[in-house]
Amino acid sequence: MQALHDVQSLLRETLRRAAQAQADATPPRCPVCGQALTRGSAGHARTFQTRFGEITLQRARGYCKRCGQWRTPAAAALGLDDTAGYSPGVPALVALVASKLPIADASLVLEHLSGVQVPPPPSTAKPNAKASAPRPCARNSINPPRPNRAPPNSSSNPTR
Ligand SMILES: [Zn+2]
Repeated sequence: MQALHDVQSLLRETLRRAAQAQADATPPRCPVCGQALTRGSAGHARTFQTRFGEITLQRARGYCKRCGQWRTPAAAALGLDDTAGYSPGVPALVALVASKLPIADASLVLEHLSGVQVPPPPSTAKPNAKASAPRPCARNSINPPRPNRAPPNSSSNPTR
């Protein structure tokens, strides 16, 4: 299961980088009303639980005068619930990762995130043809000692 662990670590790091890049690119506007945020400050770390483990994102925060609320636009842009801290679906993150990975890896990510098996395309579906025939026991056995004692001419010696 070591390989699976490595894959999950890789996916988690990919997810974190993609999410952080998305967070950095999010404009400081209120996700609810669109008002430009004031008193903005960056570097608000928050840890989110994902299927690959925890990821921590640095996000900018600002105050929306119209709503009278503190807003973290990056959280809304990423589809992360800012209060729960756990988003089982994380659809925006899935889309992000899918855009960064080859299709085979993306389907793996989708499978992990959604918990739903992504069926392989019919062209690659193969019956179980794993060659698992038991190998014959081929260990080097010591050759039994040959009867070298026997003289080449074993006929009785008449010279006695
Ligand atoms: Zn607002």
